[in-house]
Amino acid sequence: MSGLLYFDHNATTPIDPRVRDAMLPWLEDGFGNPSSVYSLGRRAASALQTAREQVAALVGADPGEIIFNSCGTEATNTAILSALAIDPDRRHIITSSVEHSATIKLCEHLATRGYEITWLPVEKDGTLDEERLLAAITADTAVISLLWANNETGILFPVEKIARIAGEKRIPLHLDAVQAAGKVPINLSSLNAQYVSLSAHKLYAPKGVGALYVNRRARYTPLFRGSQEEGRRGGTQNVASIAAFGKAAELALEALPEAPARLGALRDGFERTLLALDGVRRNGAQEPRLPNTSNLSFEGVEAETALLLFDQEGLCCSAGSACSSGSVNPSHVLTAMGLSRDEARASLRFSLGKTITEADIDRALEIIPRVVSKLRAERSDGALVRTAVS
Ligand code: PLP
Repeated sequence: MSGLLYFDHNATTPIDPRVRDAMLPWLEDGFGNPSSVYSLGRRAASALQTAREQVAALVGADPGEIIFNSCGTEATNTAILSALAIDPDRRHIITSSVEHSATIKLCEHLATRGYEITWLPVEKDGTLDEERLLAAITADTAVISLLWANNETGILFPVEKIARIAGEKRIPLHLDAVQAAGKVPINLSSLNAQYVSLSAHKLYAPKGVGALYVNRRARYTPLFRGSQEEGRRGGTQNVASIAAFGKAAELALEALPEAPARLGALRDGFERTLLALDGVRRNGAQEPRLPNTSNLSFEGVEAETALLLFDQEGLCCSAGSACSSGSVNPSHVLTAMGLSRDEARASLRFSLGKTITEADIDRALEIIPRVVSKLRAERSDGALVRTAVS
């Protein structure tokens, strides 16, 4: 990536050249519609089948349990609405206060339609206590929808325990595995989850393609009506991107025995160096966490300003906050973990990826402390000036 220090892989990933190669034939001579009966169409249909097998293998599912769609957000919306359709009399949804906007925005909307939402709190270290889930379940609970891995902190929720509770209470469970897939092992064949969201662009494949796992015994209602995906998701499939998704899943599965340990070691060294600086602390537990993610708060630093200075030096990371109508909102994930608004605004997320080298880490570790010191010095100058004036 020509010298770019890309430390924002939880936002999206670059396309792996092998993934691009797997995609190109379907943009060129293999342009057929997979629903067409002639051989051009049948070739496209067989590309979809290969990709379905590859994605299924990554998460330990049957290929028939994978429904391709446009993104992780679509998968999550479809899953939750599908679960709600099972028993329309049940009007209670359990989710958490640290979910991705795909879940939050849908649940907020459903709240305006008469659904009751329980937003489970997380502990100070970002973990979820499954006893809180147990306590929140009522006879009216229609669905439990929770993250597998948090996109901002990397914290992993106790999905096995969650699935056991949901199974015992016979409540449909949706897990958002968009950040987890490819970063940690997933075996859905031994987990009692009815629906699981996946997205290709976190896996070195293009944006705008995702999948929903629907357990073969789960009740399911499509969001888009049409004949494709066996009537489970209407709309002509994006064959090239789905082929890319499949290849990316295959590569991720091949890398799983070693890649997490390598990334974890790089991340831990990176984090140790930064935590040794004054006024730096980690947001979230050391474990259980995705191996690539480090969310740190830098006392006295405005994260949004730091991002701009990092950008000038070719370093990309994320502030985990949303800028809307001129005001910078602190991350809802970090405030849910008990950080003050100022602490949350001083937080940066670094998310590593497979092309990052030790040399990249060294360069980033030269830039970050320098920018942090500069911002703190400017701030204390500003504070002194203000004190002198007032
Ligand atoms: N869920 C999580 C945890 C995510 O991190 C993201 C993307 O950032 C999504 C869902 C949405 O996926 P997509 O961008 O494919 O809609």
